[in-house]
Amino acid sequence: MKKAIGIDLGTTNSVVAFKDTSVRILRNKENEELTRSCVSYKNGEFLVGRSAYQLLERDPHNTILSVKRLMGGAIKDPMVQKMKLDDYYKYTITSLQGGTENAVAVVLGGRQYTPEQLSAEILKKLKADAEARLDDEVTHAVITVPAYFTEKQKNATKVAAQLAGLKVQKLLAEPTAAAIAYGVDNLKAGQATTVLIYDFGGGTFDLSILNIADGNYLEAGTGGDRWLGGDDIDRKLQELILNKVATQYRISDVRKLIDSLTEKKKNQFEGQLRFKTEEAKIQLSGARTANIIIDNILEDEEGEIIDIDVVVTREELEAAIRPMIQRTIELINELLREVSYEMSMIDSILLVGGSSCIPLVKEMLTEKYGAAKIKMTEKPMLTVAEGAAILSHRLDDSYEMPDDSTGTIADVCYTSNHNYFIEFMDGDRVDYQRVIEKQMPLPMTSSSVFKTTTANQKIVRAAIFADAERGEKVLEGLGFYLIEQDLPIGSELTFDFTLDIDETYKLQVYPKGKKALAKNLTIARGNVDERAMSVMDEMIDRATREYSSVEGEQELIAYIGSRIAEINKLGTVPDETWHEIAYNVPEKFEEIKAGEDSWGVGERWTYRAGRLLSEFGDIVEPVDRNAMLEVASRIKAASDISEQDELGEHLKSLVKQYAILDLTLQVRSLADRIQNYPGTGIGITNKGQDVSQLNQNFNQLCNMIRAGRPIEDVHTLLDASYSIIDQYNSIL
Ligand code: ADP
Ligand code: MG
Repeated sequence: MKKAIGIDLGTTNSVVAFKDTSVRILRNKENEELTRSCVSYKNGEFLVGRSAYQLLERDPHNTILSVKRLMGGAIKDPMVQKMKLDDYYKYTITSLQGGTENAVAVVLGGRQYTPEQLSAEILKKLKADAEARLDDEVTHAVITVPAYFTEKQKNATKVAAQLAGLKVQKLLAEPTAAAIAYGVDNLKAGQATTVLIYDFGGGTFDLSILNIADGNYLEAGTGGDRWLGGDDIDRKLQELILNKVATQYRISDVRKLIDSLTEKKKNQFEGQLRFKTEEAKIQLSGARTANIIIDNILEDEEGEIIDIDVVVTREELEAAIRPMIQRTIELINELLREVSYEMSMIDSILLVGGSSCIPLVKEMLTEKYGAAKIKMTEKPMLTVAEGAAILSHRLDDSYEMPDDSTGTIADVCYTSNHNYFIEFMDGDRVDYQRVIEKQMPLPMTSSSVFKTTTANQKIVRAAIFADAERGEKVLEGLGFYLIEQDLPIGSELTFDFTLDIDETYKLQVYPKGKKALAKNLTIARGNVDERAMSVMDEMIDRATREYSSVEGEQELIAYIGSRIAEINKLGTVPDETWHEIAYNVPEKFEEIKAGEDSWGVGERWTYRAGRLLSEFGDIVEPVDRNAMLEVASRIKAASDISEQDELGEHLKSLVKQYAILDLTLQVRSLADRIQNYPGTGIGITNKGQDVSQLNQNFNQLCNMIRAGRPIEDVHTLLDASYSIIDQYNSIL
């Protein structure tokens, strides 16, 4: 039987739990309960977990930490910018080549990866290790995400799961997961209670207030600090340790000494210091003192080795971090004020996250709020995964509702809450309508009516915005609706917007009162789909601005309309059709705009089919090859242009079954065209460099295709190539 698990995909650590008769943590291959959420690359392979983390010492630039912070992010997001500047993260964060201007990539082993791809590597390990423990295939999972994750971040998480071959039963808010784990043992059916989840993890401090009743977990508000966690405690302790080193070994400036080491030794020392500091911190949660020993790396000015051996006491650590814990208490007060709650309305404070293990945390909270309110398990960093496992088990097909539900919460969590709102934008891009208010329980559907702005309007653009951070509108997604009927100006269209329990949304559009005609809109979410959508957006814009002839505009709108119909049948997973739309729509646009094509459709596709067969003849299926050759010879024999065009379209559809290959070949052709264009005159000075980059990319693409490299990798390089080509659009 196939299994479903609960996954806490954490910023610092990930945890897997499984429930059958009881909940248990599934240890990884290294026999650890926690798997470091760390990815690195060595000898052509990804490393994940402890082995990846240990590379920090040797190759910090290729050791990816905290990739969760980048999920669904845009390069201009403050969070991403902050990570770029933070020298705690030594790896390169950059714009994804060929992505939309905003997409983020991380460089690993000299190549770009999306945060989703790296998260997927973590999930792959979690899945494989769980399979080894269960001695069974794991197909499904409940994956937890922070309560404040936007739809885009959640979607990125889903994409990661998909890449890892996991079906997501539900994305569950971390605090809700913690509350489920807590509730199962501590709440009686029918009992209503209010819990404050205090999640002090590695990189973040997250607060949530949940009202729990009858298995429903309603979020009343979230707070905390995205930049406060165990990492900050480590930094403080590190400072303390270095001060001790300075005194003990009479070094006037330890930093300077470290900086004067060779690059290799410096990395080694900083890595060791980081490992040993965290070890000491964890040790100090149980013991009164900890030793930090780093042998054989640091050298004094004369090149003499300094073997470091210093002692830190719990008191010293506590004195250093007391203000940080005080700050967590202030953040609790802040949240209470924000949601107009009194502390007396909170029944329990549930401590979760690794940093809650620090005795001073419990001590200060107890002192402030009384021992009765403070709850935690022995291992608070496992609570979230346990909650995920409970829900995963509940959602599994094999689940049977227990007859006797007294004493436990049998029916867990069918309500959740979201913390942002969403709006549409209409065709004129001015009329915002709020469709969902903050904090409404899910699932929910709202209907809005928009009016068409011209007679026989064909295209409606739906932009979805969310209020993710403090009132700022963030574009979440873009979709288009094709009006198939001819409607008079001012006709009403209904937009049914559904936000599901796991905050995935769905948009259905239909002429008012004709629900039978409703169409689902595909909403792009940040990969090649987003690029395709922005290409469509631009073309629609240009079609209306640049056209003088009505026929031309109509032809173009009809063409764009046909692509929209196609898009609305697609999912958002990158596939060949998305690529074709992303890259071929502008070409076709120019063709129609030019009124006539000097090279007929038949000729064009005969040429492209020929290129395809000569370059990749061994990859093309024999049936397709024969079909292409046959159509091509019919084109040659055809006498009239319209017959040629028709056959040309047919040949095109045959070639387009191999869109990736065709697009690859186009890279080469377009590079030639760029090279042959006399002068530049288009404000681009590095033509030579671009052409040689394109040719290099072309060779690499061919190699990748032949080597059977993952389609994702090919996509990335293809995207990169077309973003170079895009600069030359006006001359091509
Ligand atoms: P996240 O949710 O951010 O992935 P966790 O909840 O696993 O992270 O917390 C990780 C943090 O907790 C790390 O900074 C780690 O050093 C710290 N931690 C784990 N165990 C202890 C402990 N016993 N005492 C103090 N800190 C701990
Ligand atoms: Mg966590």
